[in-house]
Amino acid sequence: MHNNDIDLETPGYTVRGDRALLNLSSNNYLGLADHPAIIEAMKEALLSEGAGSGASRLVTGNRSLYGRLEQKLAEWQSCEAGLVFANGFMANTGVIDSLVGRGDVVFSDRLNHASIVDGVILSRAEHVRYRHNDMEHVRSLLSKYRDRRRKLIVTDAVFSMDGDKADLRELVALKQQFGAMLMVDEAHSGGIYGRRGEGLSHDLGLQDQVDIHMGTFSKSFGVYGAYVCGSRTLIRWLVNHARTLIYSTALPPSLVAGISKALELVISEQWRREKLFEATRLFRSSLRQSGFIIGDGDSPIIPLIVGNNDAVLRFSRELEAKGIAAVAIRPPTVPDGTARLRFSLSAVHSEKELINAVNCIRAIGHQMGVLR
Ligand code: PMP
Repeated sequence: MHNNDIDLETPGYTVRGDRALLNLSSNNYLGLADHPAIIEAMKEALLSEGAGSGASRLVTGNRSLYGRLEQKLAEWQSCEAGLVFANGFMANTGVIDSLVGRGDVVFSDRLNHASIVDGVILSRAEHVRYRHNDMEHVRSLLSKYRDRRRKLIVTDAVFSMDGDKADLRELVALKQQFGAMLMVDEAHSGGIYGRRGEGLSHDLGLQDQVDIHMGTFSKSFGVYGAYVCGSRTLIRWLVNHARTLIYSTALPPSLVAGISKALELVISEQWRREKLFEATRLFRSSLRQSGFIIGDGDSPIIPLIVGNNDAVLRFSRELEAKGIAAVAIRPPTVPDGTARLRFSLSAVHSEKELINAVNCIRAIGHQMGVLR
């Protein structure tokens, strides 16, 4: 694959040295990261509001932009209230740490994101990790800890390194049966699933059963930052207890303006979701037909399991030589023996680019003996 005619700024590409590589490893799922309307909104706010917010929101860093965004977020998520955090890592650690503590218990999928793991550690609640998506295991653990004061189940909606989905229906049933709270991290499903890109909980019609909706603005939204939505009581509690919110400087106003514009586009530009799903179907089916082992599901995160750490690095380097960026993910990020290329697609990728990419992947797969 030759990208000689690709401008270094072309959407869907990333620059390494003086080369533009087809970027099959970004979280810019909807292709909004360089959207002119978002950039314009950020520029305007930069000129009118200045570079930085100057303080935490609870001190003097608050601006009317924040409140307006939070209201729109709450409407979008069909919740009573919303709250913006500096990023997803701080949202997860701040929320979990403020909702549970010593004597409480958190049930967390083994493949949950590091920020969830760190949130639980910080909270000092008992950390009970269940086997990935194993609902019988969750049930037996909930039963074992049924007498604990507060129980929180927390899960990624779409798992970041595997691209598969949490069994939210069953988790909702279990949380109801055992009187637990349910928190869903929609980092890799927000913007992608749901009629207005609300996420997987909405797509399944379970939004009212999820107590804490969390998502980031750094992936589908193409900007930076994160949100939490839920009841008015939850948000009031977080404003008073979430240390990552209280003791950290508010996001720059230009970012908040960019997020607000991105939210409008996420809601209104359904065609981006359709294009992303078309690209995903094509890419997944072509890799499968070629004989590769890829993860299940329909999400734009597609792990191609290679197994061996050195082999996956070599695969990634060979792809780079052919003009494709696909990062090698190795333990401890993923379990031993499951080193993989993690492909993640974007609505800006064309059919031709993806077919060319699959041809390169197949050729390298044969050459390296990953395919026989
Ligand atoms: N949750 C999940 C599932 C993620 O994948 C990530 C980012 N990789 C985060 C939270 C953290 O979000 P942010 O990058 O906005 O800090």
